[in-house]
Amino acid sequence: MLHTFHGGIRPAGRKEATRRSGIQPLEPGPARVALPLAWCGGAAELLVQPGDTVGLGQVLARPEGEGIPLRASVSGTVAAVERRAFPSGRGEAVVLESDGHGAPAPAEELLRPVEDPEGLTSGEILRRLREAGVTDRGEPLYLRLRRAVDRAEVLVVNGMECEPYVTADHRILLERSARVLGGLRLMLRVLGLREAVLAVGGDKGDAIAALQKELPLRGGPIRLVTPRVRHPLGDDRMLAEWVTGREVPAGGGAEDVECLVVTPAAAAAAWDAVRDGRAQLRSVLTVAGGGVERPGNYEVPMGTTVGEVLRLLGREDRAGRVVLGGPMTGRTVLDLELPLERGAGAVLALEAAECARYQNENGVCLHCGRCLSVCPMGLEPCHLLALEMAGAAAELEAQHVEACIECGACSYVCPAHLPLTRGIRRAKRLLRERRREGEE
Ligand code: SF4
Ligand code: SF4
Repeated sequence: MLHTFHGGIRPAGRKEATRRSGIQPLEPGPARVALPLAWCGGAAELLVQPGDTVGLGQVLARPEGEGIPLRASVSGTVAAVERRAFPSGRGEAVVLESDGHGAPAPAEELLRPVEDPEGLTSGEILRRLREAGVTDRGEPLYLRLRRAVDRAEVLVVNGMECEPYVTADHRILLERSARVLGGLRLMLRVLGLREAVLAVGGDKGDAIAALQKELPLRGGPIRLVTPRVRHPLGDDRMLAEWVTGREVPAGGGAEDVECLVVTPAAAAAAWDAVRDGRAQLRSVLTVAGGGVERPGNYEVPMGTTVGEVLRLLGREDRAGRVVLGGPMTGRTVLDLELPLERGAGAVLALEAAECARYQNENGVCLHCGRCLSVCPMGLEPCHLLALEMAGAAAELEAQHVEACIECGACSYVCPAHLPLTRGIRRAKRLLRERRREGEE
């Protein structure tokens, strides 16, 4: 059932600073958090106003249609309801000033634990996931699951974590193995599937051993596979192709090959929500890079700003860059007052000297062919960059630029340090703009 993966790279891991660092709360917590109403997933009714006192987990806003409640990730006071910038755009947000106590909301605002979560119906599981606000890849998990019912043939947990520095999933799989497996069984129940594939990068030996201990020796609904780490096999689409042997169409996703791919964090959060009634109020984040004094894996209240995380962990203001996500596919952030997105797995404060590759806008292609040999999508990154620079939209489309998954492998290997991935991202934007203009 498992298949070959073409192309890709094995970048230096650089995980030593955090792979043995157990998940710990960010102490002291943030003074303020900003929680966007857009996290409800559509139009939402605001239930609080400036000056209100709120408890941990209290519902601040409810969606008017489909979506999840917005819950307080700290206890304290509503400082403002205002327009704010977020990594994905601007919008209304509830800003909370933390009192540092973590006092819970009144009991009627919270879900109660259940004795036998695996005895619940799929409707009840979905209802609890929704009420607890569990998300995966920034999207409500109950919606991802509901869409996949009768469509998905395979459920996959993506524990590959191939990018350098990042170890948050590794630690979740190691420290929360029973909860990940419990969540996975609940999802199988909702989807009506008999088997799930748990793909864990072969470099995570201790996590693999912890999971094996929890799994039956033979049989059982969860199959643990441990492929060798090779970036971008941790991309959901690549992993879905590898598991199913079916090709994801250009610009498509894992669902196009009847696959639902979820994160270990979402699986563990699903178990916590359904069994314990625990709302998802924090994310586990790897904070690393030479620019941070106390690298590690931290549980961070949602809505904490990038700058506050770095400040609390002793970032010295040195030259370099701050990246949200892994160094290969993450985005550089310039405004450190942006709150973290849900599902962000890492914040890296990289010093100039450790940036894997410096991008050279004025470099010249050496025609070495390395970018072609590592591209998992079979593209010609060097040619695409040249077309983008020439603004040749029709040609870019003909060369299937939209099939690029922005894995960053071509940029990583380019000896001329050309900004290939960045140029291709621009090219995709150009095509989208041209299409929009054509429709108007
Ligand atoms: S062209 Fe896109 S898919 Fe291919 S290696 Fe570069 S970033 Fe990855
Ligand atoms: S890896 Fe860089 S130098 Fe080599 S062909 Fe590709 S763009 Fe040119």
